[in-house]
Amino acid sequence: MRIRDILKETRTISCEFFPPRQAEGIPDVLRTMKTLKEYRPDFVSITYGAGGSTRAFTEQITLEVKAQADLEVMAHLTCVGQSQEEVHGVLERLDEAGVENIIALRGDPPRGQTDFVPAEGGFKHATELIEHIRSNFQFGIAAACYPEGHTESTDLGADIEYTKLKVNNGAEFLITQLFYDNRDFFDFLERADKAGIDVPIIPGLLPILSTAQIRRFTSMCGAKLTPDLDRQLEKFADDDDAARELGVEHATKQAEELWKSGVPGIHFYVLNKSYSVSKILQNLGLPDHSGQQ
Ligand SMILES: Cc1cc2nc3c(=O)[nH]c(=O)nc-3n(C[C@H](O)[C@H](O)[C@H](O)COP(=O)(O)OP(=O)(O)OC[C@H]3O[C@@H](n4cnc5c(N)ncnc54)[C@H](O)[C@@H]3O)c2cc1C
Repeated sequence: MRIRDILKETRTISCEFFPPRQAEGIPDVLRTMKTLKEYRPDFVSITYGAGGSTRAFTEQITLEVKAQADLEVMAHLTCVGQSQEEVHGVLERLDEAGVENIIALRGDPPRGQTDFVPAEGGFKHATELIEHIRSNFQFGIAAACYPEGHTESTDLGADIEYTKLKVNNGAEFLITQLFYDNRDFFDFLERADKAGIDVPIIPGLLPILSTAQIRRFTSMCGAKLTPDLDRQLEKFADDDDAARELGVEHATKQAEELWKSGVPGIHFYVLNKSYSVSKILQNLGLPDHSGQQ
C-alpha cells in the first residue's frame, strides 16, 4: 500500500534500518525488525549506502520484508555514483518485486569526499530523481527535509523553496532530518506552511545511544543538541548506558509533545538497535495510533 494512503487513514509510526556491511548481518537486521513489529509500525525503511555491496543488501532486505507481506516497506534510493540509467534499473527491480514506496534522495558525498559530485549522466538533486520517478513509475514518493536547514544550505529560504520543488515534482510526504529541539521542527512547519507545502511532514527522531555517537552524528548532519542536553551528555561521556537512558527520556518527551501537537506520524532512526525505540514506544502508548489498538 502507498504510504500516502496509509497517512490518510492513520497517524503513522515508522522505523528506519540500515543494511549491514556483510551479508551475514542481514538476519540480525531482520531480527531487530521483528522485535519492533510488536509495536506494530505502519512501515519500515532501509537506507541506501554510498556504494558497493550494501546497496544490494538494501534491495535484498526491502524485498524480503515485502515478500513477508505483514509490514509495509519503503526503499531509500540516492543519486550517488550512479547514472540515470543505473538508477532507473534499481527502480525497475523494485517495481517488479512489488515495492510501492520510495524515499528519493540525492545522498551524501561518499566517505573521503566533501562535495557532492553527480556521477556522469547522473541526477544532481533529489528534485530530478523525484521527477524521473513520477514520470516513469507508480511508486509512492517521499523526500527528505531539514528543520535546521541542510548542511550545504546557507539560506533557509532557498532550502524551503527546494523542499517545495520536491513536493511539486511528486513527493507525497516528507520526513525530517533528526533534531533535538521541537522548536526547530515547529518553526520549520511554519516556514513550510508559508511556502505552500501542503503534504504531511513526519518528524524523524534519533534516540541518543552514546555521547560520542551523537556528537559525531549531529556535527555531520548539521543538527544541534540543546545546551541542556549537551551538558547532561557530557556527564555520561564514559557511560553509554546512562547516555542511552537519557536518550530514551529525551526522545519520549520530544515524541509526546510532537504527537500532542498533531503530527501525521513519527519516524524513528532505529540504527538497527531495538532497545531505545521499544522503550520509547512503550512509554508513549499512542492510543490513536491504529497499529496499537
Ligand atoms: C529521512 C532521511 C533519509 C535519508 N536516507 C538516506 C539514505 O538512505 N542514504 C543516504 O546516503 N543518505 C540519506 N539521507 C541523507 C541525505 O542523502 C543527505 O542529507 C543529502 O546531503 C541530501 O539529500 P537530499 O535528498 O535532501 O538532497 P537535495 O534535495 O538534492 O538537497 C541537497 C542540497 O541541495 C539544495 N538543493 C536541493 N534541490 C536543489 C535544486 N533543484 N537546485 C539547486 N540546489 C538544490 C538543498 O537546499 C540542499 O542544500 C537521508 C536523510 C533524511 C532526512
